Amino acid sequence: MILAYHRINKWYPDDALSVSPEMFESQIRFLLKEKYEPVSLYEYIKNNAHRRTFCVTFDDGFADNFFIAFPIMKKYGIKPIIFLIAHSIGTEKIHERYKDKEKDRYLKWKEIQEMLKSGVIFGSHTLTHPDLTKLPRKQVWSEIFESKKYIEKNIGQRIDFFCYPYGRQNEKIRQTVKNAGYAGAVITNWKGSFDSYSLPRIGIYGHNSLFTFRLKIWLKKLRIK
Ligand SMILES: [Zn+2]
Repeated sequence: MILAYHRINKWYPDDALSVSPEMFESQIRFLLKEKYEPVSLYEYIKNNAHRRTFCVTFDDGFADNFFIAFPIMKKYGIKPIIFLIAHSIGTEKIHERYKDKEKDRYLKWKEIQEMLKSGVIFGSHTLTHPDLTKLPRKQVWSEIFESKKYIEKNIGQRIDFFCYPYGRQNEKIRQTVKNAGYAGAVITNWKGSFDSYSLPRIGIYGHNSLFTFRLKIWLKKLRIK
């Protein structure tokens, strides 16, 4: 299974996108106790969902992924993938939901470099996080292709995975992601059939108790075989 997170921090108990560090660690410990093996997205697509594995993903590239989530993941040998909004990395931009310049900022390139050394993988979440289904074709191409090139140039490694902003996509957009040279893409909504360009994820939110987390995993297991 693939899990989808955004932020790990203790600052925003009422924010759906923020999971507390304690809860995050409990979720990981639960999976390990249940004999789920942590895998990278590369390993996951190779073995598909047949084995008892889990892959951790983060959307948007918030700095708390580095300061808070990364040490926890290192402790448990987890190799996550973080989907970056290319034109927000290393800038002063703040996500519309938040306002604190330090707590809520996006990752810096040097933090990304540091995580790369420990096996963290990075993917593209476009240049500017638009709803791709609402853009003209040319712009869709640039959001998908240019973000890949831009991140590759900055980190010196291939970018093979893509994440659709707001999970919004369709057949044409999936085809564009394929044409741009990606090996796969992840989604969070569970409609239609799944392939490498619509890898289904379980969205984990700040208001989910450990019981809800277990229930989500159990329910999704019935749907992906
Ligand atoms: Zn996003």
